[in-house]
Amino acid sequence: MENSLVNQGVNFVEKNMVVENDDRKIKICNSILQIMYKYIQIVRKSCEAGGILIGRENSGNSNLIIEYVTEPMASDKRSRCRFSRKDKGHLEFFKKVYEENSEIYGYIGEWHTHPENIPHYSFIDANNWKKIGEEMKDRNQYHIIVGIQQVGIWEYNADKKKITQICSVDWKGILKENETLF
Ligand SMILES: [Zn+2]
Repeated sequence: MENSLVNQGVNFVEKNMVVENDDRKIKICNSILQIMYKYIQIVRKSCEAGGILIGRENSGNSNLIIEYVTEPMASDKRSRCRFSRKDKGHLEFFKKVYEENSEIYGYIGEWHTHPENIPHYSFIDANNWKKIGEEMKDRNQYHIIVGIQQVGIWEYNADKKKITQICSVDWKGILKENETLF
């Protein structure tokens, strides 16, 4: 039943998303945008979806590449306006990627969908990101909220303990040309 609420392959995400943040670029691979796009909450009954972002720093510069994501799993708590990552499978997947690739991959942050066109983080999101930031301490995290029209990225700065929006990008700009959203 859950599957009928997933947007199966209507559109194809052709382009990677590349955003500039201070002196680094953040690249989000089209393969993971494609996964996130499946879960946008167009249908009124659809629940929030989410998972973790896994990526690596490019050798030679500080550019960040987000290459893997996890998808909703059986033990996650999901409702129309809430996604709570409870399933151990997310971190198990991360460990597997980490171990199979000579430990070059790291945890980047969280992603989840929102049932709104232009995504904004909630009070609960901010608290969750701060909690993760305090646990990780040394590094900044990047979090993605997937809205219906746009996808937004936020940075949690570990030193300043501050959340800053990096961008909000229209899906139309990253979907294959000549295909409409709805
Ligand atoms: Zn949220």
